[in-house]
Amino acid sequence: MNEDKCVFCRIAHKQVGASRVYEDEKVVAFLDIRPLNEGHTLVIPKAHYENIFDVPKELNAYLHGVTKQVAIAVKKAMAVDGITIIQQNGKAANQDIPHLHVHVIPRYAGQKMPSFSETSEADKEKLNQTATKIRKHF
Ligand code: ZN
Repeated sequence: MNEDKCVFCRIAHKQVGASRVYEDEKVVAFLDIRPLNEGHTLVIPKAHYENIFDVPKELNAYLHGVTKQVAIAVKKAMAVDGITIIQQNGKAANQDIPHLHVHVIPRYAGQKMPSFSETSEADKEKLNQTATKIRKHF
């Protein structure tokens, strides 16, 4: 994958807009434009690594440390009952974008796990409002 063509690299380097909820020198978290539930956030390393097989161990640990903070912020901001964390590696595991990313998915008591194939693109303005809410909890 050419990093110039990788959409997550372009988001990390601010060449493409995203509804960001958290950022530091190593990672960035932003709302999924096709959310399974409102507040569905992706956490990625800024550097291009395809998946868990090629990311350095320390960076992967750091990524998951930030994922914990993101999960807490999303849970508080969206007042949800739970959070599902999904991290897919390789086509066989349904990895869609070949840049390592962790899904932080809000869940509601009694709600069936939503399907990735049934999502649709969210309204940009609504995503920005949701991101503002989540950012307050860091
Ligand atoms: Zn990338």
